[in-house]
Amino acid sequence: MNSDEEKYYYHPLENIEDVDIFYDAVERNHLTKSVSPERPYTYWTIELYDQKNGIRGGGGLGVLAADTRRVAEKMGVPFALITPFYPYEMHQVMRNGQVVDEQKPVSYKDFGFKYIDSVNVKCNNKLCKLDVIEKKFNSTRIIAITEPNFRELYADMSGSDHRLYQEVSLGFGGYAALKLLGLKPAIMQLNEVATFFAALARLDELASNGMDFYEAVVYTRKHTLYTNHTLVQAAEAEFSREQFDRYVYPNLKSLAVKKWISDKFVNDRIKLSAVTIEISELRSGVSKLHARVANYHDVAGNRVKFRAVTNGIDMDTWVMPEVMREYEADDILDAIGKPTPNYEQKLNLINSEKIREYKSIGRRILNDALRNRTDQNGRVLQFSDDDFIFDFKRRFVDYKRPDLPFRNTFRLRNILEPRGAHYIIAGRVHAGDSTMYGKLLHLLSLVAQDDYLRNHVHYISDYDEALAFGLSAGSNVAINLPIVGLEACGTSWMKDIANLNLLISTHDGGVADASINSYLNVSGASEEEELDMLYQRMEEAVQAWNSDFDLEYLIQRQLAAYLPVISGARMMQEYLDYLFPV
Ligand SMILES: *Cc1c(COP(=O)(O)O)cnc(C)c1O
Repeated sequence: MNSDEEKYYYHPLENIEDVDIFYDAVERNHLTKSVSPERPYTYWTIELYDQKNGIRGGGGLGVLAADTRRVAEKMGVPFALITPFYPYEMHQVMRNGQVVDEQKPVSYKDFGFKYIDSVNVKCNNKLCKLDVIEKKFNSTRIIAITEPNFRELYADMSGSDHRLYQEVSLGFGGYAALKLLGLKPAIMQLNEVATFFAALARLDELASNGMDFYEAVVYTRKHTLYTNHTLVQAAEAEFSREQFDRYVYPNLKSLAVKKWISDKFVNDRIKLSAVTIEISELRSGVSKLHARVANYHDVAGNRVKFRAVTNGIDMDTWVMPEVMREYEADDILDAIGKPTPNYEQKLNLINSEKIREYKSIGRRILNDALRNRTDQNGRVLQFSDDDFIFDFKRRFVDYKRPDLPFRNTFRLRNILEPRGAHYIIAGRVHAGDSTMYGKLLHLLSLVAQDDYLRNHVHYISDYDEALAFGLSAGSNVAINLPIVGLEACGTSWMKDIANLNLLISTHDGGVADASINSYLNVSGASEEEELDMLYQRMEEAVQAWNSDFDLEYLIQRQLAAYLPVISGARMMQEYLDYLFPV
């Protein structure tokens, strides 16, 4: 490359003093500095689900990112979340019996973001100019990079040029954006491997600014946390050497870093998980079970250990305000949403009378969420307090088994009909997943063939935050059936428990953080056995809502076991304790 080009695309980085900090810290044998407004906790994510701020995600990964920032704000943690602002958002609707994906343009100007400046990254022999925009929320901020042709979240296939472009832009562009704002990361948390290039940008900055390469690796490693959400490494995207030639190397200044990354290719292909492991000394999984079973190996072939930090949710976002006030007034939760030391003794205050009262408030929230949506038959649904509602709300992916309850529609009908109960399904099919589009349509055709189910099983398309909240507030029973071992954590069941719904679930993800006797468990040696137990549990759940004693007992038991797990403040505290040990 010629020096003219060089001048162009290397955004002038502020001269770093990280080198001095490093040697100073080595002397004191303590590498990690605590967070401050100038050295914030930085959180990197390709997906954010925060519609109030104009950013619509795809699922749990994005919801977690939004909740993590909200909890940091509540706790006064200096925190910067770095993410793309996608100029298009995806919606999924049913039209003429088909599932259709649609794009809608969005502008950051409508959501209170401030334009800061632009930064450049080199991509495919071009200079790509990215706008840096920012929105502040007390001690926290969202820093986003964007440009008109950035396209939508998860555009194209994983492993495609455009995905690599998006990931390189977030990493190198986002890192340059931090510098532009005068921020140095105290820690870089990588929310999955699509954010790897942020850590690479830091390594490159250190190594090309006077730090010995190996020390730069140590420094970067000690300040990078890789949070894994995927169970098997094989499932991860790969890129080719040729793609790196066009998108990655041109953004690197240090020859040593180029060489380092070049050595990580196997048969001219590179797995981002493999290099993310190499660049992070701190690694976490998102539930106790997941951290234990995630099967990852470093380049030397050694099994990678993950620290368990179970996901939590931002209580104020996901719990009905009336229920939050109850938790606080009863001294069950403190001001930041963490259970008090004696919370278990206070749970008897959540009696059946209150549970029913809050559910009737929740039903109004659900009706609000349903008012401008229709089910598969084009009907707008509104429910009364007497209606009984089961819900299954989660991405329509195979391992979550949305179709399991429909294996025996005769039996399902016999559970629902005596109580006049409804069953609501909500969840997006991953764009392009033809297997799951097919399963959804098949499920709906089974439902259409039965004259009871036809009017009592409802598929609501375009699953989003408002519907997730409405269902957790307003239904009676939530159903969660991942194949055991495949759910990393899951957070929608947390919303259900916190909003006083009964949970029927397999023992997987974060649910397995507590004992199997804490909720209405589904298990079995085969899928047939699991299905049988599911139907029994559904019958039990209907019975429980008929009995004040049972209802109170089951709801209190869930809260006793899971309030600490659910608490986002607990999650943030665990991250801080792990990253900044005293
Ligand atoms: C909470 C939430 C999720 C998380 O779903 P899980 O299946 O529990 O991981 C996904 N999408 C939306 C819109 C949510 O609100």
